[in-house]
Amino acid sequence: MARVRVDSLRKEYDVGTVVAVDDLDLEIEDGEFVTVVGPSGCGKTTTLRMLAGLEEPTDGRIEIGGEDVTDVHAKNRDVAMVFQNYALYPHKTVFENMEFGLRMSTDLEEKERRQRVVETAEMMDIEELLEDRPDELSGGQKQRVALGRAIVREPDVFLFDEPLSNLDAKLRTSMRAEIQRLQDELGITSVYVTHDQHEAMTMGDRIVILNDGKLQQQGEPTEVYENPANEFVAGFIGSPSMNFIDVDVERTGDSLRLVGAEGGFAFDLSTSFLADRGVDLESSRYTLGIRPEKVSIADAGADNSLTATIDVVEPVGSDNYLHLDLGAEFIARVGTDVDLEPGDQVTLTFDEADIHLFDAETGRNVF
Ligand code: ATP
Repeated sequence: MARVRVDSLRKEYDVGTVVAVDDLDLEIEDGEFVTVVGPSGCGKTTTLRMLAGLEEPTDGRIEIGGEDVTDVHAKNRDVAMVFQNYALYPHKTVFENMEFGLRMSTDLEEKERRQRVVETAEMMDIEELLEDRPDELSGGQKQRVALGRAIVREPDVFLFDEPLSNLDAKLRTSMRAEIQRLQDELGITSVYVTHDQHEAMTMGDRIVILNDGKLQQQGEPTEVYENPANEFVAGFIGSPSMNFIDVDVERTGDSLRLVGAEGGFAFDLSTSFLADRGVDLESSRYTLGIRPEKVSIADAGADNSLTATIDVVEPVGSDNYLHLDLGAEFIARVGTDVDLEPGDQVTLTFDEADIHLFDAETGRNVF
């Protein structure tokens, strides 16, 4: 087991024209399960490959278990990587696939190697498959073998690169639970890359969000959900996404009013709320963020409300999502008992405590 530390890690491609990872700092505690999430091209895989030693950093430093491994060859780092495409040797049996890494990375006797492979296969429930070759296995079985091959080495660190992306939704859910169970049991420091924010939120002790190679925020899933550091994180985490409305701040005496830049919306912030949050807004442009589940239906003409026409009513079983056009798409999650149809006008409101406000220029969270 080991702590992983990354200092000012940088990776440039194509003589510096592509900055895949931009001065990244991370600390992953011993035994922690950290998920790394972000949109396609944000640098997740490159970060993981640098941790594995498969990609050479342009700059920065990587420490594993207190040792500087920046220049240490991949095979001499005590890490095991699990890939999306399984990366099993097609001509080797499951047993040989699992045993091969052990032979390369340890000096165990053959008998001990065999014992370790069999024990791990039992733990992964793949002992029946040991003599099969990869092309005889289903996707789920292949991924169990790939996991088994990583586990059998008893590495200091597990690196997962979207390991479940090729599996169907049901299998993905059960494999998620399986990986978490194994990680709990083995307590091995794990870095798990995914583009799926739901997977990142449900699996990670801590979640790291990247965009354009840069760290946007890291924290416990609920903390990131409740207090997104900027507009990017707010929009990326949560499904359906947070709604955003451009607003101008108008000041009258001590009170502040948020006025929709597209019109049709005004929200008065109470002085007690502003004092409580300790913010003093300038009269300028901001972006208001409100999550769909924090929006409720109000009486027409109610204070602090907005009225719009419903474009689509999307039933999702437990709730209905109302899609409205407020310049940008706006979604409200309401109960199924509400009788509304496309074309109806609806008045919506929300609590000031649930509002997020972002600087319109920098995207930084104001409150
Ligand atoms: P995805 O979710 O699509 O796999 P990612 O977040 O893992 O994306 P990376 O694969 O790390 O992103 O890529 C980050 C950036 O670096 C992208 O702009 C990508 O095009 C670029 N990149 C990655 N590998 C190379 C390479 N070998 N040569 C040039 N550019 C590269």
